[in-house]
Amino acid sequence: MRDSPETRPGPNPVVTLIPGDGIGPRIATATTRVLEAAGARVTWETRLAGVAAIEAHHTPLPEGTLASIRQNRVALKGPLTTPVGVGFRSINVALRKEFDLYANVRPARTLMPGGRFEDIDLVLIRENTEGLYVGVEHYIGMGDDPRAAAESVMIITRFGAERIVRYAFEYALRNGRRKVTLAHKANILKFTQGLFLDTGRAIAREYEGKVEFDDRIIDATAMQLVLNPWQFDVLVMENMFGDILSDEMAGLVGGLGMAPGANIGERAALFEPVHGSAPDIAGRGVANPAAMILAGCMMLDHIGQGDVARRITGALEAALREQDSLTPDLGGSAGTDDFADAVLRRLET
Ligand code: NAD
Repeated sequence: MRDSPETRPGPNPVVTLIPGDGIGPRIATATTRVLEAAGARVTWETRLAGVAAIEAHHTPLPEGTLASIRQNRVALKGPLTTPVGVGFRSINVALRKEFDLYANVRPARTLMPGGRFEDIDLVLIRENTEGLYVGVEHYIGMGDDPRAAAESVMIITRFGAERIVRYAFEYALRNGRRKVTLAHKANILKFTQGLFLDTGRAIAREYEGKVEFDDRIIDATAMQLVLNPWQFDVLVMENMFGDILSDEMAGLVGGLGMAPGANIGERAALFEPVHGSAPDIAGRGVANPAAMILAGCMMLDHIGQGDVARRITGALEAALREQDSLTPDLGGSAGTDDFADAVLRRLET
């Protein structure tokens, strides 16, 4: 994957590395070992966020971390723990807002044969800043009940719809993809989803003859993804639909342990595994580092080191195919470092 020149730094870029919480530091170390052994030309600038930052700096998102991302424009991030209900708000959401990381790119590709679906190669592009997830919501009191009703506002702007659909088409062109499918619910939500669809259709006309386009209702898309996923290629949709369908797509290729993601804006790009900090297995050294290694590969693509990324994905796929040192989530009994070693062995050959 490549992105706009504004976010692509020079030949030896400094990359902000946020190891994260829970399993984060262990899979981050495995990832940097693999990237360095493969010849990635990057200098890591390690910064804290999340629970680790609260312990060290008394804030989940220290200014030094933000300043580092602002300066370097590229970050590789491990998972961050967000307390449920109480405590600080999601740092992931805060980072998306701070740097206007409007495009969430989630590839889903079959890496390990023998799953329920073979030869899946899809990319979901999710609008990351608008929709219901802007968090404009409130309770409405009635009589004695202060929470008799609740209301959330879905915000779609022509600007936001245009830039995400354009991003999807440009992504398709850059990556030799044949088709963009826009998924929506304009039959029911005629204003918000209608604006998203109409805007998307107008942008699609600019790419006629270069990239195919179709649009589908979101619920039918969800079903078709399970019945016949091979009919799709690049999918684009608003925030919440993208959140749900990208997890469905991760399920087609073996689950969250294998799913990387990128959050792209004009001023910065942040790459991460899709899974969380896995507190249930943290500290045991058995987490699967594949998703974070793949996020590292997306980062390398972004900074123009696609050759290194392809070597790593080749080695990773070989280790998975040959079932060498698989972690327990993939049915093996090896540890995080053992799997990283298996990838390293294949890089050497
Ligand atoms: P989770 O993804 O951490 O874990 C879900 C299940 O998947 C667990 O059983 C876990 O052991 C397993 N799992 C996840 N990653 C794995 C890996 N690499 N290898 C093997 N198994 C793995 O989701 P959760 O438990 O709902 O969330 C835990 C914390 O992570 C929460 O605080 C949540 O807010 C946070 N979270 C952060 C991010 C992020 O930083 N991008 C994303 C999702 C959740």
